[in-house]
Amino acid sequence: MASVYQFLTSKEISPRGWIKRQLEIQAEGLCGNLDKVWPDVRDSQWIGGDREGWERVPYWLDGFIPLAYLLDDEDLKARAQRYVDHILAFQEADGWICPNGDTPRAEYDIWAVHLIAKVLTVYYDCTRDERIPEVLYRIWKNFYELLITDGITVRKWGQFRWFEGFIALIRLKEWYSDEAWIGDLAKRLKETGTNYDEYMESWKTPLHKWTLYTHVVNMAMMLKSEAVSCDLLGEAYTDLAERYYSLLMKYNGMPTGCFTGDECLSGLSPIQGTELCGVVELMYSFEWLYAHTGDKKWAERLETVAFNALPATISDDMWAHQYDQMSNQIDCNPMRGNPHFNTNNKDSHVFGLEPNYGCCTSNFGQGWPKLALSSFMRTRDGLLCAVPVPVSVSTEWKGVPVQVTLDTAYPFRNSFTYRVKAEKKTGMKLRIRIPSFVKELTVNGERVSKRNQLVFGGFEAGETVITVGYGFEAKLEARPYQLYTARYGSLLFALPISYEVKMKEYVREGVERKAPYCDYYYKGTSDWNYGYASRTLTVEERDGEDGIPFSSHAPSLVLHAELSHIDWGLLERFENVCAKVPRSRRALDGPQPMVLYPYGCAKLRMTELPIVKKNG
Ligand SMILES: [Zn+2]
Repeated sequence: MASVYQFLTSKEISPRGWIKRQLEIQAEGLCGNLDKVWPDVRDSQWIGGDREGWERVPYWLDGFIPLAYLLDDEDLKARAQRYVDHILAFQEADGWICPNGDTPRAEYDIWAVHLIAKVLTVYYDCTRDERIPEVLYRIWKNFYELLITDGITVRKWGQFRWFEGFIALIRLKEWYSDEAWIGDLAKRLKETGTNYDEYMESWKTPLHKWTLYTHVVNMAMMLKSEAVSCDLLGEAYTDLAERYYSLLMKYNGMPTGCFTGDECLSGLSPIQGTELCGVVELMYSFEWLYAHTGDKKWAERLETVAFNALPATISDDMWAHQYDQMSNQIDCNPMRGNPHFNTNNKDSHVFGLEPNYGCCTSNFGQGWPKLALSSFMRTRDGLLCAVPVPVSVSTEWKGVPVQVTLDTAYPFRNSFTYRVKAEKKTGMKLRIRIPSFVKELTVNGERVSKRNQLVFGGFEAGETVITVGYGFEAKLEARPYQLYTARYGSLLFALPISYEVKMKEYVREGVERKAPYCDYYYKGTSDWNYGYASRTLTVEERDGEDGIPFSSHAPSLVLHAELSHIDWGLLERFENVCAKVPRSRRALDGPQPMVLYPYGCAKLRMTELPIVKKNG
């Protein structure tokens, strides 16, 4: 089955409104400056230096390149180009492209080949650089020849991420459709790659040990494996991803739509964390799954992860990030003694340059740009709004130039203005995905019946304006351990905890932490030991903070709730981690009006709370 929808490119999509501002913040923050401040990118072997020569530069480029082209920023584009030119110049005569240094090819983890091939495909989509088809051909032909002669070994990351290179192989097959070896390579990659079916039992209880088959980033990436590989393999799509995702969520689900992984699967407790790489890779998998299947559940899950888990774990200025975020997170100072994380360090949840490990430092940048690139998709009969963030799409339909512009502050507001501009009358259809949580739907101010998609057509020359409105309610949703979380559409809400921030500047192993790219410890200063005193939630739209979409100080949307203090208690042995569940659910005082913040805005927060038992 060919993909139901096709991705558009940065040549067609221009960000506007809040998503443009979010991308600008990213460009002004760590991702936009990583080549200046972080040795593993600045001095990488990928560009002739002596630092890390495996996944970090490709990870960074995977976000930095679409960021540069979506913002159409000359400085960013020039810096991206410098890296790509270096990488292409170092491609060896036989096609090998990775800087394996003293490591023999047979011992080098071939995950880097998959990754750089994917990144060069992302780069091609942004630039149409004519060198790329041949570069990719030589990379994969060489890979194929090494694979069939045991010149490389399929193991570790390369084995568990066998599907990642298919993003590039799909394109290669379009360019070189007569080359039979591409199909054979695809088959061999699947055969030698990990079959995750064999490990499903091990996802049901935390193993408390580090394994590749419960590794949260592998889990997030592999969800797209069938969607990206089945066409090239000539196999039917069976929605394997649903089978995997529903099992992962049943035993490890978080309210954000992520599964716990600190850094391997960690169960349902609200104080287990999940890794930032897992967040952005899950988004990328959902984007592919939605495009491939057209099934709206994937787009709804994408929104939930993107609007909650992604902003929550990165600072307002996007200079600092966590490795692990927790849904009940009362403090972000290093833990004393052994952490309660399964396989991560005691500082994994502090905000900083590279808490725990530097993969997320280089990889987090793909989140927002790829979301913007998934906002609209091409359909058989026109365009579809997949994720309604504000962008302008300039493309053509059957030779007629068309522009579709969406202005909205969604998910903070629920109104949408679409403008379709066509030079001539066009038969193009505009489809708009409607989330299942929408209860009332209006078009141009008129109530219409609820449906999965709105479809518009018959656009005359000139401009057509369509306004759409969503109506839905805030509600408490049940979580494991008889806890509840507040949800309003795609946004989760949490009780924000006030905090003081301590800046930590230091140098470790030659890597400098210096403001703004230093570590930040958040110490909670307000009570967090509450339960819901009632199910009543009311929504308030506020002005927000200029220029920071997910402001941690002044969110543009809040919920009002009634809470009561309860005796919750700390996790045994810890001074700054709350217990998994409260000691008692009995209300210690009467209902108090409290304000809940969007989860993505609340850096310290309680997201999963009990409904209290009344006194007396
Ligand atoms: Zn990571």
